[in-house]
Order: sequence, then C-alpha cells, then structure tokens
Amino acid sequence: MDKVCVTYKIPEQGQRLLKRYELKVNTQDHFLDKSELIDFAEGASALVTLLSDVIDREVISRLPNLKVVATYAVGFNNIDIVAAKEKGITVTNTPGVLTEATADLTLALILATTRRIVEGDRLVREGRFEGWKPELLLGTSLKDKVLGIIGLGRIGKAVVHRAKAFGMKVVYHNRMPASKKEEKTLDVEYRSLEDLLKLSDVVSVHVPLTRESRHMLSASKLKLMKPTAVLINTARGAVVDEQALINVLQEGKIFAAGLDVFENEPDVPYALRELDNVVLLPHLGSATMEARMEMAIMVARNVTAVLEGKQAPNRIV
Ligand code: NAP
Repeated sequence: MDKVCVTYKIPEQGQRLLKRYELKVNTQDHFLDKSELIDFAEGASALVTLLSDVIDREVISRLPNLKVVATYAVGFNNIDIVAAKEKGITVTNTPGVLTEATADLTLALILATTRRIVEGDRLVREGRFEGWKPELLLGTSLKDKVLGIIGLGRIGKAVVHRAKAFGMKVVYHNRMPASKKEEKTLDVEYRSLEDLLKLSDVVSVHVPLTRESRHMLSASKLKLMKPTAVLINTARGAVVDEQALINVLQEGKIFAAGLDVFENEPDVPYALRELDNVVLLPHLGSATMEARMEMAIMVARNVTAVLEGKQAPNRIV
C-alpha cells in the first residue's frame, strides 16, 4: 500500500480522502525541519507539504519512493522543481480555490492602510479617543485613484474586479501584456514596471516568487513611488526588498504598506513592527474556512490521481 505523509495537519475533508492509503500526519503544532521531514517521510510515495517546508534536491534524493509532492498552496517557490522533474516526481499545487479569499484580503489591506484602520483601533483601545476631530487620522479615498497591479494573474484579476467597485482606475504590469480583448473586458492598461510605480496611488503585488521576481521591488524601484502611495504585498515577501521598504517607510517616502508576507517568515524585523504606517498580517491570504477546505480536497485529489497512475489535475511538473 502506498504511504502518504502529510507534514502538518490539514482540514479533515482532505485527510478523509487520503485514508485509503497508509496515512501519516504530523499532528503536532510544530513545523518539521529538514532532517525531521526526511525521517518523518521515510518510505513515502506521496508528500503533502506546506509553503514553509523546504523541498530541495537533498530532500528529494533522500526520499527514493516519492512519486508526488503535493503542496497545500498555490506558490511553489519552496520546492526544487528541476530536481523533482529529474527524478520523475510530479509536483502539484492548489490554484484557483484561494483566489477570491486572497483578493478579499488584498482589499482589506488596501482599506486598512488608506483609511488607517489599525491606527484608529489602537487609539480607541489605548483610551486616547477624545472625540470626533476634523483632522483626526485622515487617510485617502480610493475613488478615481490609480491601482497598479504587478502580476495580473488569477489573484490580480480578482483584485481588479473589487477595485473597480471602489471607482479605481487600474494599470498593470506582467512580463507580457494581456490581450487587447482582455484589457478591454477588465478595463485595465498595461504599463512598464517603472511607469506603474510612478503613477499608482496603490501598488499591489501578485507575482509568484521566482529567481526573476526576487527583489523586483528594489530600493531604486521603491523610490519611484509617490510619497502618498501605499504598497500592498500578499504574494511573497522576497518579491520586495524588505530592508529597502523599511527605509522608505521610515523616511516617509511612501504613505504606508500593508503586508501579509515577509522576506524571512516567520521573522518580521523589529524596525517594521514599530512603524505606525504599516499593517502586518501573519500570511492570512487564503485563510478562510472555505478556501482551506477546498485546498485540502484539491491536494488529496492530486495525490490520489498520481498514485492511481493518472494525470494530476493541478500538475506543475
Ligand atoms: P498566477 O495566476 O500564476 O498569476 C501570476 C501573475 O504574475 C501572472 O499574470 C504572470 O504573468 C505574472 N508574473 C509572473 N512572473 C512575473 C514577473 N517576473 N514579472 C511580472 N509579472 C510576472 O498566480 P496567482 O494564483 O494569481 O498567485 C500569485 C501568487 O500569490 C502566488 O504565486 C503566491 O506566491 C501568492 N499567494 C499568496 C497567498 C497568501 O496567502 N498571501 C495566497 C495565494 C497566493 P506573466 O507570466 O505573463 O508575466
């Protein structure tokens, strides 16, 4: 019987579908480090992983029975795809089912930063609310403002639909522009990265983390943003040079940032945590009961397909 190892407990709906195999689940509230993971997954035909599990060449070579690595995420920057492919191991992810949840959270961060929601909450909790004042915690409105989407994929497009409801104009940047038809349907315009950064009031990052996109928002790129602009990152921390972002926030070169992801999770620099003009979340993009349940089912279907000798529905390689 094939052995399926799950590195961290996922919702029951997914685990139930995997019970037909010899199922081993790490039920402790503890992330496995590399050597623990290799020991834990000994003899596994299938490995269900989190985005924090590093599945590199060494891990892959130490698990010779492996047929599939099914990551419980859409991003797969933690997996050595080339090494997996060389060994004929299928890698799968969970696209689509978390798109709406992540787009919702992006809007939550846009509103939280532009309207200073967290600062306001703190002020009330700390007993500093003295009554309505004409200029208390003024933010900026979204109507007629420009949203710059970096990475107009599934999540980027879902953010566009929401932003349009707030009356925003949208520009975007991808490696390749979308078709004219799609641009018209979405009511968006293509811009170079530099132009997008110069003209946007809100910049929202939705590219996957790759060698090409690492530190795509470098110090020199961040300096192109307007002093009134807001940066939102719900993609991956390392797409933005975190130290450079701290510098522009400290110097007031941009208005605020809303971050769901960090360069070295779970470490969040103290310099970032002590700033008032940032809203910080613990990687909650897909954290709705609905999305997480559907991701668990998707992961299980990918594993099952490969172990039954079929094409996985969400195959990366
Ligand atoms: P997707 O549909 O693949 O969209 C990614 C977009 O980025 C594509 O339009 C792609 O277009 C563009 N892109 C890729 N590399 C680029 C580059 N170097 N420069 C400019 N554009 C580039 O992916 P998705 O489902 O929207 O997810 C996006 C990312 O969000 C994931 O990879 C994941 O890391 C992150 N995510 C985070 C959370 C969270 O919990 N915070 C939840 C879900 C997803 P081109 O290929 O045409 O350039």
